[in-house]
Amino acid sequence: MTPSIDPAALDASDPLARFREAFVRPGEIIYLCGHSLGAAPKIAVERMAQVAGEEWARSLVRGWNTHDWIGAARRVGDRIAPLIGAGEGEVIVADSTSANLFKLTVAALQARPERPVVLAMADEFPTDLYVLEGVVRTVPGARLEVGDEAWIQARLGSDVAVAVSSHVDYRAAAVRDMVAMNRAAHAAGALMLWDLSHSAGGPGVDLTATGSDLAVGCGYKYLNGGPGAPGYLYVARRHQAALASPLQGWMGHAAPFAFDTTYRPAAGIARFACGTPPILSLSAMECGVALAAEAGADAIAAKTEALLALFLDRVGDALGLVSPSAGPRGGHVAFRHPDAYAIVQALIARGVIGDFRAPDVMRFGFSPLPLSFAEAAAAADMLVEVVSTRAYDDPTYRVRAQVT
Ligand SMILES: *Cc1c(COP(=O)(O)O)cnc(C)c1O
Repeated sequence: MTPSIDPAALDASDPLARFREAFVRPGEIIYLCGHSLGAAPKIAVERMAQVAGEEWARSLVRGWNTHDWIGAARRVGDRIAPLIGAGEGEVIVADSTSANLFKLTVAALQARPERPVVLAMADEFPTDLYVLEGVVRTVPGARLEVGDEAWIQARLGSDVAVAVSSHVDYRAAAVRDMVAMNRAAHAAGALMLWDLSHSAGGPGVDLTATGSDLAVGCGYKYLNGGPGAPGYLYVARRHQAALASPLQGWMGHAAPFAFDTTYRPAAGIARFACGTPPILSLSAMECGVALAAEAGADAIAAKTEALLALFLDRVGDALGLVSPSAGPRGGHVAFRHPDAYAIVQALIARGVIGDFRAPDVMRFGFSPLPLSFAEAAAAADMLVEVVSTRAYDDPTYRVRAQVT
């Protein structure tokens, strides 16, 4: 098979090429795991030292005002907004994706007390399903029903408060039809809640154009916020006054420093905050988000797709591709193979870092800012070689680590 796309030509004309230098390059590796933990922006590493060594160490408690730590969750939320087609004041950084999903789903159920049902995708990212199981145990009378995309659209009815789905499926990178799902939810009088963990900073998403209600997403994948960076949440402005967070913390209070003894939710998106935000992590995340914002959502989405097209063109169709073979699709590709775990380990030993998802899926992610087309091509060639020579057939590649 002869590849038909020339990586050198694509690198030479890549409008985002200059962003590669903005990331730390840890030696001779090709990093195809930005869908799991994004690469480290150099400026984030410097910023962490500054926030810890200067702002925290020297300003101490004054830093909340002098360095506007207190405004960081809203500020970074507003920087994420254009990347997901949201408006100012519709996004806030807070907690984790899991916790944000809990808050918004409970809020949706409590705003529609006559509707006890939550719908979700049966093959959703497990934490989302775990959270929703917890939600229906917490809200009296609520129950969870799961199915596929077509089933959800058909099931949406007058007893459903909210339906939950990832925009991009974490395993196969299939993309859900947001317009159709939002329409079906609205026709039934329900809300639609999107998980954007595999969308923002990668293949992209437009919440306003698709008429979306609610969303949550992850800061440490394509937004390069660092390990354990907080998540973010979106509530369309038209819904903000009618929804209330069940985790009524002081950072979501109308006047946190009035120290009132009863809770009054803040106006707007701030009511969905709970406790004190993780400023160190948030400062690193702000750097990743700033790079994405500078590059622009459209250019990011275009390069993501071009990297995927190049990679798949070189891999050919000999491997069991489970991802869409053309767009729209997420920012990673997945293949099914009985020896997927060993193949991923053999590739890691050769400097190509992808990941494995049980039971038999290997994923390769294409973060568009740190990656070149030459790297995507080299990784594809390495994958083909490892599979065709059965280089993965080595017992050391079968030993499983705790995090896979
Ligand atoms: C990565 C990811 C999460 C992560 O949730 P955390 O609370 O940050 O651990 C949630 N949902 C989806 C779909 C994800 O891909």
